[in-house]
Amino acid sequence: MTDSLMEDAAARAARYVRGVGRRRVAPTAEEIRGLEALAAPLGDNPCGEESVLAMLDEAASPATMASTGGRYFGFVTGGSLPAAMAASWLAAAWDQNAALFSQSPAGVRIEEIAADWLREIFGFPADCGVSFVTGATMANFTALAAARHALLERAGWDAEDRGLFGAPEIRVIVGAEAHVSLLKALALVGFGRGRVVSIPADDQGRMRAELLPGLDERTLVCLQAGNVNSGAFDPAREICERARQGGAWVHADGAFGLWAAAAPERAHLMNGFALADSWATDGHKWLNVPYDSGLAFVREEKHLRAAMALSAAYLAMTEHREPALYTPEASRRARGVEIWAALRSLGRRGLADMIERNCRHAARFAERLRDAGFEILNEVGLNQVLVSFGGDEKTRRVIQAVQEDGTCWCGGTEWRGRAAMRISVSCWATTEEDVEASVAAICRAARQA
Ligand SMILES: *Cc1c(COP(=O)(O)O)cnc(C)c1O
Repeated sequence: MTDSLMEDAAARAARYVRGVGRRRVAPTAEEIRGLEALAAPLGDNPCGEESVLAMLDEAASPATMASTGGRYFGFVTGGSLPAAMAASWLAAAWDQNAALFSQSPAGVRIEEIAADWLREIFGFPADCGVSFVTGATMANFTALAAARHALLERAGWDAEDRGLFGAPEIRVIVGAEAHVSLLKALALVGFGRGRVVSIPADDQGRMRAELLPGLDERTLVCLQAGNVNSGAFDPAREICERARQGGAWVHADGAFGLWAAAAPERAHLMNGFALADSWATDGHKWLNVPYDSGLAFVREEKHLRAAMALSAAYLAMTEHREPALYTPEASRRARGVEIWAALRSLGRRGLADMIERNCRHAARFAERLRDAGFEILNEVGLNQVLVSFGGDEKTRRVIQAVQEDGTCWCGGTEWRGRAAMRISVSCWATTEEDVEASVAAICRAARQA
């Protein structure tokens, strides 16, 4: 019974994966209504396992966003590399609790190996702390908690023990274009999102370094590697050097942009970021591992350990890495497995090729749409393209028409006071043909709208 259930699941998943590049990207309204088949009253009696799976597949597979296909360009998401997806199925069968080594030697060791590879890819110190969390929001949170510990410890205050009531003030500096989730993370660690000093940005959304105040040992500066709209990077070298002189802590939110470090042609964008004290990125965006997967790095591991420590020696600690001492969570899945599988399958060259290919596809989008007479609002140096089709109303109508057409999916955003369509190329599966078919669909939608 279990065998055939697992085989059925694998067959259904394989069928989904086979078809995802050919179907409409967004589900139709009718397909979304089909989800209601799952809402039948629960009832008292068990339901056969095979029919549970069949119900899910029949009602929900058609209602999914085809975000693992090559023509989904919404937000900055990334798909799921075959090796990472398959590893995720196997890891689901293992169902490991990667909180402690004694609970999952495999989960913990794989995480350690993945951490070593990641430090090397990003050019971070070989002994920096690494935390496997759910996404960049939690990675920002985790790294900021380490920053909070370090800055307040220097000021003679034990933040973990005493909290923030009565603590010395820490000045927090962000760019005007900081991602909303960074502000949320600042609020979660008690720094407050309303009391930050916001530094104006230039026309690409980069923090204007010349407007920074003095950076002392009571200051936290939050940089961004990869603006979610323009893809631009803050001028990290200048800011990090000034911060080092003054003793400030620099944190970098590089949810997707950090991966530029992996591609030789784009690595210059990351100039200076390796000088920061902590970094956050996503695995589920540009590394193309399944949800959910985020990573925090802290230059001096002791600050991460201090921020994430449990107050009493916990059960069964060993001399091995104990992930629960690096993350906000205790029990959690073995998130390093998909990262290990993605990196193992790509190798350094494959990773670089994937990043570079996505950037070239973005440049092609920009070129083709500009040639078609539309306005590209950003300097396309990474994987993000912002397009205006005329006035804001017209642009919004085009976005809606593109989404309804179903050939591809692009979201809307606002850039420097104007409505824009945002194209984010971050999926391994996107091909030149996908780009051409999508450009044609966008031009068609623009004519209609
Ligand atoms: C996506 C993104 C985040 C949030 O990441 P999640 O994985 O959704 O938590 C933070 N910062 C930037 C720059 C992003 O692009």
